[in-house]
Amino acid sequence: MIGDVNNKSLLQSNELYQYILETSVYPREPQCLTELRQLTSKHPSNVMAIPAEEGQLLSMLVKLIGAQNTMEIGVYTGSSLLATALALSHDGKILAMDTNREYYELGLPIIEKAGVAHKIDFREGPALPLLDQLIQDENNKGAYDFVFIDADKENYLNYHKRVIELVRIGGLIGYDNTLWYGSVAAPPNAPLLDMKHIKHYRPLVLELNKALAIDPRIEICQLPVGDGITICRRIS
Ligand code: SAM
Ligand code: CA
Repeated sequence: MIGDVNNKSLLQSNELYQYILETSVYPREPQCLTELRQLTSKHPSNVMAIPAEEGQLLSMLVKLIGAQNTMEIGVYTGSSLLATALALSHDGKILAMDTNREYYELGLPIIEKAGVAHKIDFREGPALPLLDQLIQDENNKGAYDFVFIDADKENYLNYHKRVIELVRIGGLIGYDNTLWYGSVAAPPNAPLLDMKHIKHYRPLVLELNKALAIDPRIEICQLPVGDGITICRRIS
């Protein structure tokens, strides 16, 4: 559970999490996402992939707002990317950024087989300079309907500063891992905080959560799905 960093669920029991997966998620998971999930599970960094129920949430959000032009920061093998690509209409687009093309190429054959690779514009490299480039062009301001951010926590606030200008009013930005394995509310002596990775990024996630909570340009909804996702809707 919360102390187990390999378990993506913040729910009260593994049984409850399994129940959700087996009842509502896996039976409806498109075959290509199952294939990608299974392929990713064999990769040493598999803990980075979003869990299947979060893919289902992203898909629902994309469809609810009728997103056409989307962006993703942090692709890894493509679980969130493929869930988004499948949810978009045939001419929908995803600008996808990751510093590591090799990860993306692991999942790419499955994305191609699913017939959605044409929707993806993958850019290898750090996202921040690319975002800076995008905001130079007035045409990109307010041009995105949906943005999913799941990359280096150090830059989440830097991403927010730029992405808020790129997403349209009424559009959504999803920030992933905003509950950081439950550590955001852990007492100072919690064993979880002895884990270097968790301890290191926790203050950054806390800072992000505070900043999002008081940002008047957005409405927010913090969901305990996966490792916590904060959905922001731009209102001004
Ligand atoms: N959303 C992915 C999925 O569903 O499988 C998981 C993304 S993983 C948690 C984070 C990714 O961010 C890694 O693939 C890493 O290479 C990428 N990354 C790290 N720093 C980055 C940066 N500065 N710009 C873009 N991508 C970055
Ligand atoms: Ca994540």
